[in-house]
Amino acid sequence: MQGYIIQVNPVKDEDLIVTIISEDSLETLYRFYGARHSAINLGFKIDFEIESSVRSTISRLRDTKHLGFSWLRSHKHLYLWQFYIKLFMPHLRDAHGINSFYFKLLEYSSYMWDKQNPKRVAIESYVKLLEYEGRLFNTTKCFFCEQEITDQEISVIRAFLPAHSSCCKTSSVNTKAFRKLLRDQRSLMLDDEEVDTLWDVLNEGL
Ligand SMILES: [Zn+2]
Repeated sequence: MQGYIIQVNPVKDEDLIVTIISEDSLETLYRFYGARHSAINLGFKIDFEIESSVRSTISRLRDTKHLGFSWLRSHKHLYLWQFYIKLFMPHLRDAHGINSFYFKLLEYSSYMWDKQNPKRVAIESYVKLLEYEGRLFNTTKCFFCEQEITDQEISVIRAFLPAHSSCCKTSSVNTKAFRKLLRDQRSLMLDDEEVDTLWDVLNEGL
């Protein structure tokens, strides 16, 4: 099967515990260190097999093969990708089962990652995730004071909730452009500085 590595934890003797978003599940597997091994790194897409063991509660990760990305040689792209993908671990930690949405979202994001500013890909993907999880509140009211927001600039807090700039003193973005992002899942009306602002909000957690 195939999957994306969202967490790598070293354990004894260079063995690893690896968490992977696969096509329709979240897998946490044990990987023994061996002479013949392909690269395991946060964010990598791999092909792999699972070997269950009667002696252990955790199955083994086997026969891994790294499936590269076209942009893998770009340090900037890889750095941002790892930043983005590791947000999924705390978000999905308690999920008992996940369906193919998350794998498909990462397929889409990794494909698009070098087609435009990767931070745009991340925030557009995040809006898709919020919508899928039923957490997308396309409201015109402020999260804090619950009054209508009529200002041209809007502050955005975690989960992309809107607030008056006077109620929440964080960097603000253009209200119309932000609403278009939520409605159409497109960031084209936001300038790069506003995209940076929303990327920072995203990095507080999914
Ligand atoms: Zn307010």
